[in-house]
Amino acid sequence: MTKIMLPFIRSDLTKLHAYKPHPSSDTAGAVPTQFDRLDTNESPYDLPPELKEKLVWTYQQVIETNRYPDGGHETLKDAIAEYVNESATLSPSLFTSANISVGNGSDELIRSLLIATCLKGEGCILVANPTFSMYGILAQTLGIPVVAVDRNEENFEIDLKAAQSAIEQIQNPPIRVVFVVHPNSPTANSLTMAELTWLKNLSEDILVVIDEAYFEFSQNTLVSELAHHPNWIILRTFSKAFRLAALRVGYCVAHPEAIAILEKVRLPYNLPSFSIAAALVALQNRTLLLETIRHTLNERAKLIEALSQHPTLQIAESTANFIYLRLKPKGSYPQDAALKKLHQKLREYGTLVRQISGGLRITVGTTEENARTLKRVQAALANLDS
Ligand SMILES: *Cc1c(COP(=O)(O)O)cnc(C)c1O
Repeated sequence: MTKIMLPFIRSDLTKLHAYKPHPSSDTAGAVPTQFDRLDTNESPYDLPPELKEKLVWTYQQVIETNRYPDGGHETLKDAIAEYVNESATLSPSLFTSANISVGNGSDELIRSLLIATCLKGEGCILVANPTFSMYGILAQTLGIPVVAVDRNEENFEIDLKAAQSAIEQIQNPPIRVVFVVHPNSPTANSLTMAELTWLKNLSEDILVVIDEAYFEFSQNTLVSELAHHPNWIILRTFSKAFRLAALRVGYCVAHPEAIAILEKVRLPYNLPSFSIAAALVALQNRTLLLETIRHTLNERAKLIEALSQHPTLQIAESTANFIYLRLKPKGSYPQDAALKKLHQKLREYGTLVRQISGGLRITVGTTEENARTLKRVQAALANLDS
């Protein structure tokens, strides 16, 4: 087809590239089991068959496909609030449905937060790279400027001096939102004391978004801080530990006033009935579903221990369900080229991982997958050396 001009499109959008789903998503339809899909930090476990059967029953007997979904999400929000209280060993009545908003994945909530804070030239966002890429991508699609600072090369702590000076110096528009991930992706580290102190001292004019997508693996949550910081919002998802990535359910915990704003921005029926049903079933069976976490953490420890033996690998500590590894500087061989080759070799052997900012992020998979990861990383490294 001949290329046509679309003169009605916003000029900044024509320069943006569409978000490219990761390789494992491309292969999901045709050859689901050919690769070890360790590039998107999903759980390696599908829902147990008995829960799938429950959902089949719900689909057949309860859901009327001709009817719009429950647009208020009250039942789901009640169940989430109960889980949030339990997850932080808080009083069962501390957070209620008034503290919860749910989205079509946490991605939708990130976009709603951006719309509610920065649109119309009113603000820009601050991120510390490397971090979750969706904050920057979604901001750009809305024409919101992104300010990025670096992290410490050793422990991946945010360059707090740079972050503070960005906040003090950048005006027109000022920084309205700071996004942090706890623990961070891809670097796998939890927020440090210094980072926390800095976040706590930020002006209440700035929204602090703490993305706890990997909370169930770190068991370290900041929800109890919400009482002291009305400008904080905690994001969570059903896509990782709860094994529902296919169904797109995320939620946030915040002050009722902030939730009320998000509800204004939200599309009326943003969650399909089936997704609501699945999230409810997952919460009702959380003990069963979250049992596998212990196993994942054991596997992570084994993987880190074994890979750390290799003289050229540098493995960061991890409080999530993935590990981040880099190559130690060696001779004159360019690190980026070596890393790229390692990434490619792993793919050739059948393991998909993510190459991000000078490192590889590898999801902890099943026992079998992790054994293969270990063998394949070693084989690929031997190949690099030769
Ligand atoms: C995986 C992930 C999410 C989850 O996004 P969904 O849209 O809920 O699937 C959110 N934040 C981070 C940092 C993640 O890694």
